[in-house]
Amino acid sequence: EDGIRDQPRSRGLGDVYKRQLQLIVMGPPGSGKGTQSLALATDIGAMHISTGDLFRHHERSATSLGDQIQGFMKKGDLVPDHITIAMLKDKIESLPDGKGYILDGFPRTLNQAISFDEMLTAGSSKLDLVICIDVPERQLEHRLLRRMICAECSLVYGSHVGGEYDEYCKNCGGELQKRVDDSDKEVIGHRLKKYLDLSLPIIDHYQTHGILHRIDGTGSVTEVTTAIKRVLASTFKGTLSFNY
Ligand code: ADP
Ligand code: ZN
Repeated sequence: EDGIRDQPRSRGLGDVYKRQLQLIVMGPPGSGKGTQSLALATDIGAMHISTGDLFRHHERSATSLGDQIQGFMKKGDLVPDHITIAMLKDKIESLPDGKGYILDGFPRTLNQAISFDEMLTAGSSKLDLVICIDVPERQLEHRLLRRMICAECSLVYGSHVGGEYDEYCKNCGGELQKRVDDSDKEVIGHRLKKYLDLSLPIIDHYQTHGILHRIDGTGSVTEVTTAIKRVLASTFKGTLSFNY
């Protein structure tokens, strides 16, 4: 036994291509990108990485990073790029090699997108797909004013048409709370304007790279999930380690 053996053809060939995906889900505040990324990540066995959740976690745990970012988040301003990029880089580097992930809320500036490209290139890695969930601006304020999030697991409640919520999270039993930045119309307006201003260059960037897919985000949670799965199924037909 030298330990080296040919794999039987019938078993080996397909597996070579089966791999984890590295995805970005973009969309304005209230578009459902958090809900969709979380569901999708669970479904395909990828890590859900939300920069907003990571920042809120730092705030709640009162870390030194938490202290630095609190002011920005409360006002609906973006956290400065150097802080955000460093945090994301740490997070990605902590993942096992080749582990799939879904980025939610990153990148939010063209500079973040370009830094991320450089990070991937340096690690001989690449993005598989960017999904942008489109929802008209006039629906977003309403969704944000209604939504609650679980303080423990960040699950989102009540922002969708027909969505309802209770006092406690059905996923983990955590307390449902109103986000500070979802409580004030002015802050909401500021966040939406920021998204409109900053997202176009990012969308252009990924469009140029041929990896952008836009999805209509006005339907129910299930309808949007189905639309995203359809894009994944047709883009990666036969190369996935999961079935849609
Ligand atoms: P939403 O999409 O509803 O605004 P997020 O949880 O994605 O919610 O983000 C909440 C806040 O966290 C943002 O308003 C911003 O202050 C901060 N934040 C999250 N991601 C980024 C990022 N990539 N760059 C800068 N700031 C960010
Ligand atoms: Zn929860």
